[in-house]
Amino acid sequence: MSANLLGVEGLHARYGSAEVLHGIDFVVPQGEVTVVLGANGAGKTTILRSICSMVRTSGRIVFDGRDIAGMRTDRIARLGIAHVPQGRGTFGDLTVEENLRIGGYTTSSTATEQAIDQWYEFFPRLRERRRQLAAGLSGGEQQMLAIARALVARPRLLLLDEPSLGLAPRITQEVFRALGRINEDTGTTILVVEQNAHLALEIGSSAVLVDAGRVVSQRPAEGLAHDESVRRAYLGY
Ligand code: ATP
Repeated sequence: MSANLLGVEGLHARYGSAEVLHGIDFVVPQGEVTVVLGANGAGKTTILRSICSMVRTSGRIVFDGRDIAGMRTDRIARLGIAHVPQGRGTFGDLTVEENLRIGGYTTSSTATEQAIDQWYEFFPRLRERRRQLAAGLSGGEQQMLAIARALVARPRLLLLDEPSLGLAPRITQEVFRALGRINEDTGTTILVVEQNAHLALEIGSSAVLVDAGRVVSQRPAEGLAHDESVRRAYLGY
């Protein structure tokens, strides 16, 4: 069993006066892919936003042995956590390469150029389109760009919010294959929120099941897709 890179303990989160996470606990083992599953509105996005200090929280968020709860978002990024938000967050009126350079804002320019080169090798289509505006890319290419941009800073933990959103099934499959390879080749730990549970569970080692702002359980991914009660409650088929 690997050590945990991230441990969330008794986490509460609120928007204004409305509490939406009610004291949740889960872990993200080092070097593995952890999948967050739950119905719409269960609080999955809020979990990722809490880790990045983009929402008001209480409780502990321990990253690599240090409690980062409430730390400034840019400091959290510098510690090695990268966030690909829902809707990707790429800048449409900047070129592919400019978007990737923004990803390197926490590292030196030499390290950034090396990392960009590395991710062009991994995503050849981004190299082909390096001088094009991000707005002109297909949905799948934009998702690849968002992932590559997050990886330029060489994070230790990559947070992904619904990477399949708005993508055709074949493209979604490509994105998940890429994420599986990124995890295997670079050892980057991944925490991914995903409705398309089947694909996510293929690359995940465990799943955190979330319901109405609480963690119901964290279970090994293997076999989960065939568990009748889990399937009905979380996988929607
Ligand atoms: P989805 O799959 O629909 O994105 P989710 O599981 O990611 O859902 P969250 O987006 O984390 O769920 O939302 C959790 C709860 O918080 C929901 O009840 C939602 O309405 C509420 N919420 C989310 N964002 C805000 C906000 N900015 N202000 C107030 N309430 C919010």
